[in-house]
Amino acid sequence: MNLVLLGPPGAGKGTQAKMLVEKYGIPQISTGDILRTNLKEQTELGIKAKKFMDAGDLVPDEVVIGIIDNRLKADDCQAGYMLDGFPRTVAQAEALDKILSERNSGIDDVISIEVPNDELLGRLTGRRTCRDCGQGYHVIFDPSQKEGACDKCGGELYQRDDDNEATVASRLEVYTEQTQPLIDYYQKKGLLRPVNGLGKIQEIFDRIVSVLG
Ligand code: ADP
Ligand code: ADP
Ligand code: ZN
Repeated sequence: MNLVLLGPPGAGKGTQAKMLVEKYGIPQISTGDILRTNLKEQTELGIKAKKFMDAGDLVPDEVVIGIIDNRLKADDCQAGYMLDGFPRTVAQAEALDKILSERNSGIDDVISIEVPNDELLGRLTGRRTCRDCGQGYHVIFDPSQKEGACDKCGGELYQRDDDNEATVASRLEVYTEQTQPLIDYYQKKGLLRPVNGLGKIQEIFDRIVSVLG
């Protein structure tokens, strides 16, 4: 099962991906997480990506395409995977198609999580993330049991630098301009599976599972 999770920042891709990992046993591949790990470790890649991420812009296509090309070669991807936050441009989607077709593979389903814009700002500014395991929380909609600490691993929860109001506004614009065209792209390929992303986290999970059949 090779999946793409599509949706604006704050739609719930990461939240649902973590639940899907447990159900289906396939890895979540998040370009955002990979970039943040590189940032934390001060790699050349991380240093290069930082200014784009801080501004709420997309990191250049060739950088993220290179990350994905490599990651998909790993053993744990051979039985399927979930791409979370990739592709984000038509050029990335085309590059992905090329990489996969050269390996006699392809994407099976694109889960498009639909959430109206006016819901996203509150979701993003209230998001908290575990420093150690990456689990996501929300101060109001999905709080951890003990404030500031991860339920899963006890790690410290932090607020992402780019989850402030100004950067969120640019990320939403970038989404509309550069990522939204992918809805059409995958619709034309017959791969698009729209899912209503409003409601309880568990309800949305059930919708995704029923769409996947
Ligand atoms: P994405 O990966 O698409 O940017 P996340 O999964 O990180 O989105 O979710 C963004 C924020 O919204 C997080 O704080 C998360 O806890 C919260 N969230 C996720 N799903 C829902 C939901 N159905 N209702 C309310 N808040 C949600
Ligand atoms: P969100 O979960 O809110 O959608 P991500 O963690 O996926 O955010 O991405 C954070 C930032 O990392 C993006 O704003 C962008 O700068 C960079 N990034 C992540 N994935 C990509 C991608 N596929 N192409 C370009 N930039 C990316
Ligand atoms: Zn944790």
